[in-house]
Amino acid sequence: MHRVNVVTMVMNKLGKKLAIIDGYTYYPTEKTTLISWRCTRGFPCKARFTTDFTMGLRYGFYEHNHRPPKFFIQDGICHKLG
Ligand SMILES: [Zn+2]
Repeated sequence: MHRVNVVTMVMNKLGKKLAIIDGYTYYPTEKTTLISWRCTRGFPCKARFTTDFTMGLRYGFYEHNHRPPKFFIQDGICHKLG
C-alpha cells in the first residue's frame, strides 16, 4: 500500500529548509538530481525520504525510533520547543 504523505515546507530559525511529514521534521541534503531528506533527529533514526527538485516523491521510509519533536510554525518558520 502506497500512502500519500503531505509535505509541509518551512524554514528553521537560521533560514534553512525543513520539510515536515506527519509531525516529524526533515532536513535536506541536495544531490545532483535529487534531494535526500533525513530526520532532524539523525542517527540512529533511519527515517528519510527522497524527492526530485520539484518535490516529487521518489522514495520514503517513515519509521522513527522516537516520538515527534515539539515545535510550532509561525510565518513559515519552524520553532522547536524544548
Ligand atoms: Zn526520526
